[in-house]
Amino acid sequence: MAAPSVLSLTSQYWKLVVGVAGLLVGSITPLFEASGMSWTVGTIVACVGYAFTLLAVRCPNCGSRWFWQAALDASVYAPLFKGTACPACKRDFAGPR
Ligand SMILES: [Zn+2]
Repeated sequence: MAAPSVLSLTSQYWKLVVGVAGLLVGSITPLFEASGMSWTVGTIVACVGYAFTLLAVRCPNCGSRWFWQAALDASVYAPLFKGTACPACKRDFAGPR
C-alpha cells in the first residue's frame, strides 16, 4: 500500500494518473508511425493531460489547485506526495475531522 498523502486521502490520485497517462501517450505514441497519431494530436493529448492534472486536482477544503501551485513553486511537490495536509490551508486530511 502506498503511504498516505493528501492525494490518496482526498481520492484524487486517479487524476494524477490520468494526467500523466495523457502526457505519456501524447509524447510516446506519435513515435510509432503505425499508431496513426500525428505529432499535432500527440501534443494536444499531452497538453490536455497536463492541464487536466493542473486544474482538476484541488483541495476539497480551500479549493487550492495543488499542481498549479506546484508548477509555480516546486517546493509544493513534496508535501503533495509525503504530507497529509494541504500546503495552502494546512487542513490535515489524515487527522480527526
Ligand atoms: Zn486547502
